[in-house]
Amino acid sequence: MAAEYDNLRYIKLQDAEITELIADEEKRQRESIRLIASENYVSKAVMDATGSVLTNKYSEGYAGKRYYLGQRNVDAIETIAIERAKQLFGAEHVNVQPYSGSPANLEVYYALANPGDTIMGMSLPHGGHLTHGWKVSFSANYYNAVQYPVCEKTHLIDFDKVVELAREYKPKLIWCGASAYPREIDFSRFAEIANEVGAKLVADIAHIAGLVAAGVHKSPFPFSDAVTTTTHKSLRGPRGAMIMCKEEVAKKIDKAVFPALQGGPHNHTTAAMAVAFKEALTPDFKEYGKRVVENAKVLAEELLAKGFGLVTGGTDNHLILIDMTSKNTSGKIMATAMETAGIVCNANSVPFDKRKPFDPSGIRIGTCATTTRGLGVNDMKKLAGWIDKISESIDDENVLKSIRKEVLEMCAANPIPDSFVNHGE
Ligand SMILES: *Cc1c(COP(=O)(O)O)cnc(C)c1O
Repeated sequence: MAAEYDNLRYIKLQDAEITELIADEEKRQRESIRLIASENYVSKAVMDATGSVLTNKYSEGYAGKRYYLGQRNVDAIETIAIERAKQLFGAEHVNVQPYSGSPANLEVYYALANPGDTIMGMSLPHGGHLTHGWKVSFSANYYNAVQYPVCEKTHLIDFDKVVELAREYKPKLIWCGASAYPREIDFSRFAEIANEVGAKLVADIAHIAGLVAAGVHKSPFPFSDAVTTTTHKSLRGPRGAMIMCKEEVAKKIDKAVFPALQGGPHNHTTAAMAVAFKEALTPDFKEYGKRVVENAKVLAEELLAKGFGLVTGGTDNHLILIDMTSKNTSGKIMATAMETAGIVCNANSVPFDKRKPFDPSGIRIGTCATTTRGLGVNDMKKLAGWIDKISESIDDENVLKSIRKEVLEMCAANPIPDSFVNHGE
């Protein structure tokens, strides 16, 4: 027990309540299988940077042009983070200061469009993100948002419709990239359309950044004017985000981040990004990316064989969307039963969903976290078997309990790793 509490030694001395909750969260993460497609486990090195003294420092501005003194180390750290990101993605310019994915997207809007301008993005119930123009987001309130769909039959992005809408509405910005789309994004096709109508193309690769870095998904460069990404999903870094862009919009992007929309950057996060990018530059990370996709493909095949309806009929990336109407239940009921068995995912709308967004038909699962944990194709087969059993015994506490026991065994056999690099020990 003592070892688990080590990183909490000071909190423990003064705040029993929060200590207890963090410790229980450690246990929850250790003892459950994480299928939430946007989540991962970072290394202890990334965790160390996140918990470092850098949290004490204010650094408004950019390296060499700060408003406060005392920036010798922060300037060096931010510069290293930027250089590593450039190397990882082949970007011309990088800003690592955005606080998270949604602010990064807001900053791109601020830099490249004016309030009231027309913008285009993928509809949220079809896989897009809130910030791509969905009605409850700033992106639909401050801009004239046009939403493109997936094809009703194939669930693939309906490029005929994208072209038609782009020609009709002449958007200033076109967003591509998604939060719940299991297939590869064809950046070059989007770029053709954006070029034709004079729009800037922004790729939001939040979900797939790790796959792009590992070379198992097409790169958004050179097709995109700007690329945003979170750093905490498949990229396996701290919670944060960055904007990468072409040199010609670099000044506008930097000014949008600071001083237009943010103050001081989160330097502890910047350092943790630098550490994570170093990890992502290793051959092991390429291997990781390959295994993420391989695991997802096996999991999808197994689920299909058991009669689950999958959006688009499978996956090319880390993510699978299951339509639970194929098993006569809803996404929420299924996700709740899975959690009882120790397998954590989220309920999710499927394209053309007949149910409400808060009580949708599907569940979304992904293999980034399980792959980090070292699970392989045989484990995916086991997982598919459990998911199938759960769907058939949703109200049967005993079945859920017996799966819970097996899940605990799988977790114990595959501890969350502390590190992804060889320390030569
Ligand atoms: C996760 C995600 C974001 C938002 O990231 P936050 O850090 O949660 O604000 C933006 N875009 C896409 C496509 C995402 O999947």
